[in-house]
Amino acid sequence: MAYPEILHHGAVGGVTGSCHELRVGEDDAILIDCGLFQGAENSGEGAGANNLAIEFPIDHVRALVVTHVHIDHVGRIPYLIAAGFRGPIYCSQPSAKLLPVVLEDALKVGVTRNRDLIERVINGLKKMIRGVPFGQWQPIEVEGATPLAVQFRRAGHILGSAWVDCRCGNDADARHVIFSGDLGDADTPLLHPPDQPQGCDVLVLESTYGDRNHEGRAARQQALEKVLRHALEDRGTVLIPAFSIGRTQELLYELEDILHRNRGGNAASRLAWEDVEIVLDSPMAATFTDLYRELRPYWDDEARARIAAGRHPLDFEQLTTIDSHDDHLRAVQYLAKTGRPVVVIAAGGMCAGGRVVNYLKAMLGDPKHDILFVGYQARGTPGRDIQQYGPRGGYVELDGERVDIRARVHTISGYSAHADQHGLIEFVRNMKRLPRQIRLIHGDPQASGVLADHLRTLVPDTLVARPPDA
Ligand SMILES: [Zn+2]
Repeated sequence: MAYPEILHHGAVGGVTGSCHELRVGEDDAILIDCGLFQGAENSGEGAGANNLAIEFPIDHVRALVVTHVHIDHVGRIPYLIAAGFRGPIYCSQPSAKLLPVVLEDALKVGVTRNRDLIERVINGLKKMIRGVPFGQWQPIEVEGATPLAVQFRRAGHILGSAWVDCRCGNDADARHVIFSGDLGDADTPLLHPPDQPQGCDVLVLESTYGDRNHEGRAARQQALEKVLRHALEDRGTVLIPAFSIGRTQELLYELEDILHRNRGGNAASRLAWEDVEIVLDSPMAATFTDLYRELRPYWDDEARARIAAGRHPLDFEQLTTIDSHDDHLRAVQYLAKTGRPVVVIAAGGMCAGGRVVNYLKAMLGDPKHDILFVGYQARGTPGRDIQQYGPRGGYVELDGERVDIRARVHTISGYSAHADQHGLIEFVRNMKRLPRQIRLIHGDPQASGVLADHLRTLVPDTLVARPPDA
């Protein structure tokens, strides 16, 4: 067996269930991420959305390294602990703050309602988590002869997100394996741009948007404003399914800017921008928005300049947060019937669960409402079906119920917090020492296929593989 060896336990041939293993010897390995499967995706080894127990050996796993706290990267951690894993869990410092909150929610939603049990698991978990400053080498305790260290660098995807440089072996002849995690765009609101790696031996690279390029941020914000103006004209609700972490805060940040820039103007006929309400209907998203505000030192210069100018990018006047489930149900009923010009951001992002489902059931049948997708919809999720069949007057199944789609469906690509094809290629090409191998993961076959073709032309000396065929 040649080391370092890389095994993929998820996010191959799809975008969820991220979990990769880096083996540096017979007795030593680390896991990079341990995420939930969603929709129809699975590990190819027996695990999937309905069977999340860890199906691979972990006796030799010395640590878990977390790139960022999205559920498709961390949601299986409780199952990892159930399988006997006792830590440590390394991540960036902001991620260390966000992770317990993410997992507490994951436990409540997917595992148990038992408060004591949840508290015990979370307390145990907190003891395993070690926040590591960006750019600092963290040695991993191993049993074998090959030393191993990891370093977190900014990935620009969500707050705290990192790509991870793994140094296997002693200084001079060390091999470097980089796991990209999820990479962000250079101009993602609130965040510093991704750091550029200088080089490595093997790069494990995400390929979510390997087959397309986003519009720039300015064009994206214009597109958002245009959809809002158009949608608010007939006084319906604009419903945005969004993930609690990252995209929601990014959206709030851009919405605050649209409201700020248009102060005194009209959003639609006889409708002032000042009268447009933004509703955040997701207790989790609200919690994370609070955490984002606490983690202000990690924001980029633009965001901090807005605060200095007296603005409140994530806490503005026209923003209302819905907390209790009763208030949520009332809001759904009220907004479905009345023509209030409201923008609702509700979790979850792919419409497979969460409060957004109640809105969809109440609103999809009415052409006065608009559904706006701002993020990637995985195969097999209701979100993908609405996106695909909605514009042709099709239907979607929600909670086993067939719901006809008459509401208008919009998609703004690029509000995705994922680098596009250009970004992914530049991440590789700007390395001074090109990897001898790139393994493309975390993408639909179409997306990773197109990216693979491009990379094979652009960096011909690098072997580009697409697991599980690697
Ligand atoms: Zn992510």
